[in-house]
Amino acid sequence: NCLEGRGGTGFVGTALSRLLRSKGYGVTIVSRMPGPQRMSWTDLAESGLPANTVAVVSLAGQNVLDPTRRWTPGFKQNVWASRVNTTQSLVQATIRAPVKPKVFISISGVGIYQPSQTAEYNEDSQGESFDFLSRLCHEWENAAKLQADLGVRQVTVRSGVILGRNGGMIKQLFLPFYLGLGGPVGRGDQYMPWIHIHDMASLLLFAIENDNVQGVLNGVAPQVVTNRQFAKAFGRALWRPALIPIPEFLLNVAFSEERAKIMTEGQKVIPKRTLAYGFQYKYPDIDVACRQVAKLIPSK
Ligand code: NDP
Repeated sequence: NCLEGRGGTGFVGTALSRLLRSKGYGVTIVSRMPGPQRMSWTDLAESGLPANTVAVVSLAGQNVLDPTRRWTPGFKQNVWASRVNTTQSLVQATIRAPVKPKVFISISGVGIYQPSQTAEYNEDSQGESFDFLSRLCHEWENAAKLQADLGVRQVTVRSGVILGRNGGMIKQLFLPFYLGLGGPVGRGDQYMPWIHIHDMASLLLFAIENDNVQGVLNGVAPQVVTNRQFAKAFGRALWRPALIPIPEFLLNVAFSEERAKIMTEGQKVIPKRTLAYGFQYKYPDIDVACRQVAKLIPSK
């Protein structure tokens, strides 16, 4: 078996590739950088999917919260194209494949749901287009749509904040929290949909291997927490106080308000379909997830 993964060099891609290889799958990664078991974008456009590809997983995307990059029109264009255009390229390769893969999986974000302190969203909720990031989620999901008559099963995973030691938010928060300087973001009562990296990789594998799974799955843990509850759990896991709030205005200055919203606002997201399909979480609880993530030598 061969799996074609894109964004496979990143935080999620690395975890998924490792899991897939442990199950005996071959993995080919489409990357901008050459390397073993990799192909370039040009290779993909010219030669298409590798033979015997059973699943295509679209995971690429320029890091939106890169603190070293200003939120300029050029950077926003990169953020957009690195998701929409890359997904389109993979769709084109799937359409052209003489033997189709069984499944096409793409990741998207819970940013498709409008931040709210009162609304509760599940996969049946209508995602809206209300700002740059929600419009991006729509275009990203649209870019992944294949014609039904192609016979390729489709799954879209709308991910919450992914918690793991080697990437995403924790990578940036580990040091300040370790130094006892961590705390909630802004008001702290905004919801923070989250999922442990182990569960995200398992959910992608679950979507690959279960032929009945299709459509949108919320990639979030069943336990709903606020940003303050997360900060407390992470502080506890590191045996540190987590009392120093990060002021909203500082984030607005550092990141610009449009993208700081990812941290200062949130939505209550329920994984209704994910649970209905019978997906089993290893880390459904924020304290247990934070304890795993806080280990100095993380277990796999
Ligand atoms: P990473 O930042 O770790 O890596 C994603 C990969 O995308 C990189 O390895 C890189 O591959 C590729 N990439 C980066 N920039 C570009 C670009 N400009 N053009 C083409 N490819 C690019 O992301 P994650 O693994 O954390 O996330 C994977 C996906 O999941 C992303 O689309 C992200 O938006 C989404 N997501 C992640 C969440 C999280 O908490 N981490 C939450 C919600 C959604 P290479 O260098 O090999 O080309």
